[in-house]
Parts: sequence; C-alpha cells; structure tokens
Amino acid sequence: MADQAGSSSSHLEIHLEQEDDFDLIYGADSGWVEARTHCDHLASLSSDLAHIPTPNSSCNRCQHPSENWLCLCCKDVLCSRFVNKHMLEHYKQTTHSIALSYSDLSVWCFACDSYLDAQVIQQLRPAHETAYILKFGEAPPFRTSESSQMEDKDVKDTPTGS
Ligand SMILES: [Zn+2]
Ligand SMILES: [Zn+2]
Ligand SMILES: [Zn+2]
Repeated sequence: MADQAGSSSSHLEIHLEQEDDFDLIYGADSGWVEARTHCDHLASLSSDLAHIPTPNSSCNRCQHPSENWLCLCCKDVLCSRFVNKHMLEHYKQTTHSIALSYSDLSVWCFACDSYLDAQVIQQLRPAHETAYILKFGEAPPFRTSESSQMEDKDVKDTPTGS
C-alpha cells in the first residue's frame, strides 16, 4: 500500500501570483482555445460568402482531396499546414488572413493567430452557415438562438492596453 502515501500531497504548491494564473488560463499554454469575437481583418472578406465551394473541394495547388481550408477573402480552397501548407503560403503571399476549415468549420485568422467565433462575428456567419449546410445538409443549430448574445460578449473580450 505504499502507493497511497503520496495521495495527500496531490494539491501542489499554491502559486501566489494570481494574475499570472489568470493569464495562463486564458492563454495558449493551457490548451484552452478561446475563439476571438473580434478581428481587425474582416474588411478583406469576400462580399459574397453565401456562395462558396463545396467542403469536399480539393486543394487548388496540390489537389489534396479533403480537410482543406477556404480563403474567405478570395474563396480559394487550399490545404492545411499539416499537408502542404498551401493556405499558409497563400496568406503570406496575399495577406488574406481569414480562412474557414472544411474539416471542422472553424474560422482561423492568420494575422490574429487565433480562431474566430463565427457565431458571434456577423460577417463570418454567412460563410459558416453556408459551409455547414453544404457539409451536413441542414442549417447549423445556432441559427435558432439568434436573440441577445452579442452585447455581453463584445464587452467581455475588449482588449485593453498595448
Ligand atoms: Zn484577424
Ligand atoms: Zn495543397
Ligand atoms: Zn485568398
């Protein structure tokens, strides 16, 4: 039963620097991925995101067949950084920074280096909804709860300083 002896010490030392802990919780290190509800690069979005290529489109460069990204600025379909990095290359060449993943329909901004919340950011919703419908054959579930979620989130996420 020697194994049991250590169990009372499982509450590790308590860190005194509470503010640092707070940063860690919401930072990238914890594995907690928080999608941004604001992005400064939305101006470059395509004006017609209700018409997009189907989710099973292959990469325009290397023809990789699935799980590609859709550039939401020019609607190019390009493969991920885990394949041939064509979406990343596209961003570097064009500064088109916002892309939608056809594998899980998340939206990523390369310039913010962060996911974007397509349910909260109005400009992203048409693309997200259209992609969802193309992929699953039905409208996404959040469509029905459109009411009053936006005000709170905007305030919460307002970056301060720097
Ligand atoms: Zn951005
Ligand atoms: Zn490719
Ligand atoms: Zn593009």
